[in-house]
Amino acid sequence: MSIPARRVETFGTTIFTEINNLAQQYNALNLGQGKPDFDAPGDVVGEMVKALQAGKYNQYAPGPGTPSLRKAVADHAARFYNLDIDPARGVIVTAGATEGVLSAVLGLVDPGDEVIVIEPFYDSYVPDIIMANARPVYVPLHPPTWTLDPDELRAAFSPRTRALLLNTPHNPSGRVFSREELTFIAELCIEHDVTVISDEVYEHLLFGSAQHIPIATLPGMFERTVTVSSSGKSFNATGWKVGWVYGHPDLLEGVARAHQFVTFAVHHPAQEAVAYALGLPDSYYQEFQAMYQAKLALLTDALDSSGLQYRVPEGTYFVMVNYARVFEGTPLEFTHHLIKEIGVACIPPESFYSQEHVAIVQGYARLSFCKNDDTLRQVKERLVKLQR
Ligand code: PMP
Ligand code: GLN
Repeated sequence: MSIPARRVETFGTTIFTEINNLAQQYNALNLGQGKPDFDAPGDVVGEMVKALQAGKYNQYAPGPGTPSLRKAVADHAARFYNLDIDPARGVIVTAGATEGVLSAVLGLVDPGDEVIVIEPFYDSYVPDIIMANARPVYVPLHPPTWTLDPDELRAAFSPRTRALLLNTPHNPSGRVFSREELTFIAELCIEHDVTVISDEVYEHLLFGSAQHIPIATLPGMFERTVTVSSSGKSFNATGWKVGWVYGHPDLLEGVARAHQFVTFAVHHPAQEAVAYALGLPDSYYQEFQAMYQAKLALLTDALDSSGLQYRVPEGTYFVMVNYARVFEGTPLEFTHHLIKEIGVACIPPESFYSQEHVAIVQGYARLSFCKNDDTLRQVKERLVKLQR
């Protein structure tokens, strides 16, 4: 008898868990996992407390999500993107974006189908595709600009391509895909009749003049896109694991069928609080962006005296740094050096690549800046040591 199943044979411990353990062991400032070290807004937490004590939200929520959260998701999509979403049939609340992507893959992709994955990819995408008995087809972004080669993307489409997994703003590169790039992807998906699963969890984490464009808003795309997002990033509430998928009801039907038997329903009181949070005024979202813009400035200030090279991200709370000037070795070796000798943890991005393309990311590591300002200032003091 083989234990565990072949399906999960290639799944190792996630890099986030591995690095958290190491960072703790060496008392390093942890810029690894994208986990804020500050709290969710007090009024949002207050809504959860109220819901917990109201006496009516402590049992199963409706499977597809509470009416209030589904309406809030639809209203948010109308307010920010001018999208017309049916709260009843076009929204499913999931256990984070992680379950959103899994339920979308399980509900929309058949065994044997191909799914195009843009590298570097969020680490759960490929296991999701494998668990659906489908096949990932990899197309890399090329550093230092982290852009697609149009010919490589075109060549990845085949008669078996069923879906393309997109992530914008993009973890870990910090890219926000432009209208031109998204139009090129959209045209290929329309030509080959492919569904897009668009992971937009960093939709509100934008810098400078960057604008987030949901691919569902491009001509001909609404009927072939499911959009996934989450409360984790926008409300510093990664521990709540409340996410959602929205789109055309015909596509959402597949996602809903899978979701019923993956989790059935999501934490009920948290849905009340997230419904409230999504409806916060524009000033909340503006202050949120200003807070992160200041954190980005603290990190780039630290990087400027470190010898690490970087491209300023347009979105997300990640920066990819190139360490070639200060260290020779693989990203994993650099990560060990940074944690043990310098006292700062980062994420080596090898886990975001297939074997065939992992060489592309040689010389790079990911730093996350969803951290207290004091932590980011201390990082500067430590990173200076890289130069010596
Ligand atoms: N997608 C991307 C691109 C992410 O970076 C993350 C995690 N931070 C997720 C999905 C998972 O989101 P959640 O915690 O809501 O499951
Ligand atoms: N999304 C976060 C990151 O990329 C963490 C996710 C996780 O720990 N699975 O760092």
